[in-house]
Amino acid sequence: MSVWDTSERKLLARTVADFTERELAPNLGSWEDTGLVPREVHRRAAELGLLEIGFPATVGGSGDIIDTLTVAEAIITSGGSTGLCAALFTHGIALPHIIRAGDRRQIERYVLPTLAGEKIGSLAITEPDAGSDVASIATIARREGDHYVVNGAKTYITSGYRADFVVAAVRTGGAGHGGVSLLIIDKDTPGFTVTRRLDKMGWLCSDTAELSFADVVVPAENLVGAEGTGFRQIMENFETERLTMAAQAAASARRCLALTIEWVSTRRSFGAKLSGHQVVRHKVAEMARQAEVATTFVHRVVEDYADGAPDRTRIAMAKNTAVFALDHISKEAVQLHGGAGFMRGTEVERHYRDARVMGIGGGTNEIMNEIIAKTMGI
Ligand SMILES: Cc1cc2nc3c(=O)[nH]c(=O)nc-3n(C[C@H](O)[C@H](O)[C@H](O)COP(=O)(O)OP(=O)(O)OC[C@H]3O[C@@H](n4cnc5c(N)ncnc54)[C@H](O)[C@@H]3O)c2cc1C
Repeated sequence: MSVWDTSERKLLARTVADFTERELAPNLGSWEDTGLVPREVHRRAAELGLLEIGFPATVGGSGDIIDTLTVAEAIITSGGSTGLCAALFTHGIALPHIIRAGDRRQIERYVLPTLAGEKIGSLAITEPDAGSDVASIATIARREGDHYVVNGAKTYITSGYRADFVVAAVRTGGAGHGGVSLLIIDKDTPGFTVTRRLDKMGWLCSDTAELSFADVVVPAENLVGAEGTGFRQIMENFETERLTMAAQAAASARRCLALTIEWVSTRRSFGAKLSGHQVVRHKVAEMARQAEVATTFVHRVVEDYADGAPDRTRIAMAKNTAVFALDHISKEAVQLHGGAGFMRGTEVERHYRDARVMGIGGGTNEIMNEIIAKTMGI
């Protein structure tokens, strides 16, 4: 039996699927229209114990990364989406640095209320002039006595519109990665503004914001870890973010496949079911092959990570394998649905537009290939 199929994980997946089918999927269209997942949904997910999964017991967490991904996969394969996961589980990228740094005051003030569904946190690294090249961020945090004064801007920040606080990458030192630190900044601090709520191609229920800091005074006790360790902290957490995106992409691919099988088994043309045409059957067979390869490889790399043997190169390979599979499978799913596939409200249409960001967020396809190429010595 695989570690993904233990009786506990099957039960967890069933519970999450029930929750998704009853409370998430029926509302997803309207959350996409308003561009927001309501806060009550975070509280409800916390009540069901879903927000704490994958976090250490020291902060009231339970389970491991396989449990976290079991939850995300179950949401996606039962009618949710990667965009919904991005909105509901932003804490998966916002909290780990604080927890690892281990400052009890920060944990009590930010981590515990977020895991309880009471607060929303974001991770703010990307800037208008610095994306893939994290070490070139320009937001300045100048130390003055017992506080920092922050000036700069962030963009494309997931949940940044709703967030109560952001864990921001700031420059406290000189140029390059050694000058980067992480600082928790409360949304209600004077000078911190959401300058724009950004309109997007996909992930429509997940709010994305542009943020500005103008002489924002932040207590020095909000520094996460030591000064100058921000870049290392960010890189460490990228591994789990990339595995999460890989698993979500593979789950989205499987969902597109399942929806397409159902569709071609009932839709008729020229006196036969679509699945009666050999070209259609072969397209579906190829979708199934790619979904299987992506799932098997991603799960294997996650298992190695969970066993304490993280491999940066294979994690990059896993992300690209799943993202490229989803690109192909979501496109074919729309194609085989014909006009229906192009219509808002058809589930494969949502997966198709959401698929575009999976090769951009958490490190682009090109950056993944750069990581792979470096280990090949080229
Ligand atoms: C919906 C959404 C949500 C996001 N959420 C967050 C968030 O919560 N927090 C956050 O901090 N950021 C977030 N991001 C930002 C995301 O991490 C960046 O968009 C991503 O890292 C790429 O940076 P960039 O957009 O500046 O592109 P750039 O870095 O400018 O890259 C542009 C293109 O050039 C390519 N490129 C760049 N450098 C190289 C190279 N060395 N070799 C080859 N090709 C290269 C890239 O692959 C890409 O194709 C989000 C983005 C999106 C779209």
